[in-house]
This record gives sequence, C-alpha cells and structure tokens, in this order.
Amino acid sequence: MSDPRRLLLAGGRVLDPATGFDATADVLVEGDRVVAIETTPGRLEGEATERRDVTGLLVCPGLIDPHVHLREPGQGVKETIATGTQAAVVGGFTSVCCMPNTNPTLDTADMVSWVDMRARDVAACRVFVAAAATVGRQGQALAPMHAMRAAGAVAFTDDGDGVADADMMRWVLQTCASLGAAFMQHCQEPTLTRNAQMHEGAVSARLGLVGWPRVAEELMLERDLRLDRSIGARYHAQHLSSGNSVDILRAAQADGVPATGEVSPHHLLLTDEACDGFDTNAKMNPPLREESDRRALVQGVADGVITVLATDHAPHTAAEKAQPFEEAPLGIIGVECALPLYAEALVAGGAIDWPRLVAMMTIEPARLLGLDRDGLGRLAAGGPADITVIDPDHAWRINASTFASKARNCPFNGRPARGRAMLTIVGGDVKVDRLG
Ligand SMILES: [Zn+2]
Repeated sequence: MSDPRRLLLAGGRVLDPATGFDATADVLVEGDRVVAIETTPGRLEGEATERRDVTGLLVCPGLIDPHVHLREPGQGVKETIATGTQAAVVGGFTSVCCMPNTNPTLDTADMVSWVDMRARDVAACRVFVAAAATVGRQGQALAPMHAMRAAGAVAFTDDGDGVADADMMRWVLQTCASLGAAFMQHCQEPTLTRNAQMHEGAVSARLGLVGWPRVAEELMLERDLRLDRSIGARYHAQHLSSGNSVDILRAAQADGVPATGEVSPHHLLLTDEACDGFDTNAKMNPPLREESDRRALVQGVADGVITVLATDHAPHTAAEKAQPFEEAPLGIIGVECALPLYAEALVAGGAIDWPRLVAMMTIEPARLLGLDRDGLGRLAAGGPADITVIDPDHAWRINASTFASKARNCPFNGRPARGRAMLTIVGGDVKVDRLG
C-alpha cells in the first residue's frame, strides 16, 4: 500500500474558537483526520506528502450553516442536494443543516433517512436534517419525533411556518427536551401576517403592499420563551428580523431559559427600502425591516445575545422570481456570499472580531445541533479534517451568474466583497481550492 496522503497547511493563523486557540501554526491532515497542530515552524514539514502555504490566512474549523433549504425531495427545479451542497463548499461551508419544508415534508424517519442516503451519494459537504416537529408542518399533530431523532435528525422545526397552536408548541418543547434536541422556531404569528408581502411600515404603505408587522415575530418569540421557562428545552429563534426580538431574547437568557438566536446576512445589511421598485430579490420571510432593526441586530451580535449566523439559503427559479412582487415566492440564496457579508456587517463595522465571527459560524451552530460531540465546529488534533481556510482581505465582486447553486435570486449580486474561503476541506477531501 502506498503512503497515505498527508497534507500540511503551513504558516496560517489557526483558530479553534471552542478552546480559544489563536496562534500561527501548522496543521497536518492525514486521511479524514487532523493529526497534528504545531506552533513550532518546520517541525511537521518532514511528515507531509503535500504542503500548502497559508501564511496570512485564517485556518478555521469548517464552517457550519444551520439553516439552508436544499429543496429535495420534490423541488429539484429550484435546487438539489448536489447543487446546494456544491454552493455551500464554494462559500466555505463543510456542514449544512437542511430544513424540512420539502415535498413531501421531512416528517417521518424514512424521509430523514432518504435525505441522509441521498446526501451520502451526491453531497459535496456534510448534510444534517432538521426534521418537522408536526405532521406536514401543519401544526396539528406531533410528527414521530422520537423515530426521526433515532434516524439522525439533529433538530426540529416547522420552518416556513411557526408552530402557532400554543398547546402543540408545549408538546413540541416537551418532546425536544426529552430528546435532548433543539427546537428551531420560525417566529411568525400567522393571523397578523395574512397575505403579507413585506415589512409593515412607511415603504409598504407607499408601495401599497400588505405589511408583515414585526410584532408578529415578537409575539411568538415571547410566547415560546414563556412556555419554555418551565420546560427548559433547547430553544432557537431562527432568522431574527425585529430589533425588539433581541431584547426579548436577552431577557429570557438572563432568566436562564436555554434560548439562542440566529441572524442572516440580509437582515444585517439591508432594509425594507430594498423593496422599492418591487425587486422580488428583496422579498423574503421574515421581511427586511428598518434601519433601527438592522442596527439592533448588529448590536445583539456584539452583545452576545445572538450567537449563531445562518444564511436561510432559499433557492427559487428565475421564472418564479420574475413574477410580480405579490406572486413571487419568499426568500433569497446565501451560502456562496455569506462569509464576506457577515464580515462586512459585523467585523468591518467593529461589532465583533474575526475569531468571534468564526465562532458564530462553527462551534456555536455545532453546539446548537449537537455536532460538537463528533468534533465538528472544532479544529483539533484527532478531530475530523473539516477545515476552511479564509483570506479575510481577499477582494472580489459577488457574481450570481457564476454560482454553483441552481438559483440566482441574490440581492447582493454585483456587490463588492472582502473576505473569501480559499480552501474548503471536508473530511480530508479538498472540495474547493482557490490558492492556485
Ligand atoms: Zn423560516
């Protein structure tokens, strides 16, 4: 047998936010594992069969996106597990967690297993399933959560809709608590958002569009946290959009509720003004809100109330998004340009530094989904060789026409970007290599 390939990433700034490790070091990968991290230059040189100079770059645990829509089964015209995960690795992600609002819904153990098997065949990165909490995401009957957990579901959510029924929500939280899995809520009180098209405010009034008031998010978040005070399930608020939600979450955390929250690039950078001109790439759920909300979300990250970054990658076809604003589907894609957008919103503005940004894209989502138990979200000797090498200064321009995703619905198309994944390694396999 020939010698196994041993890849040395030499001279980078190695970050492992789980331990606070932050030093210039060499990383040696053998097979699918990291076998050594060495701060003394040159000591590992003799061990390697292949060497990459990553001086000046950040060597990070592989990035994890806890909120993507891969659209399979049933909507392969928008995206597939193959194309969505290829887009993910292009963006530097080595693991994604897919949402259950597919057709059929991911609400049985068989469906969870189907995604798992399909991903093993075609995916470019690791795929984890967030399974539906209720049958068909209808909010009426509890889905077989124990069986889906046994089949590998890492969390539960009815994403696309919130669980509106309070009694059902209590059952879901109790079941999640007994399973030790997180519930991830799409906070949207449905009676306040009937026929809603965008944020309810001055812009919706001017455009004559039905508004989605921020209180619809806040009401469900407050209710859930109130319910969870006596249950203690791991509760996670998805894609926060209202500035007030940060205060609600902060108060619950201070009271000891095990609650976390996530925020997406678009809510950190854009406002409802982007809907002016009826641009359907500014139509999403929850909607883009106002500058005060945007600032509060950034501050929520700076304060450590919001600890998880998630793209809510939501592919749609060009034909679907070419419809009039009222008919166009909700959502935008995100995995291929998320990293520089987070850096622009959070690091360039001084809210957080690069190590914290990396933590919010690695160990924090890993803990949310329980992946840290398998060493994901970490970069350590003996752990899995999921590694993302980032050039924080790489200047480029977002060009949706070059995306690996099937979809092009990106409001950031043409935007100058700074920061990029230069090397994406999944289980020791180099999936993306921009180092040349
Ligand atoms: Zn959602």
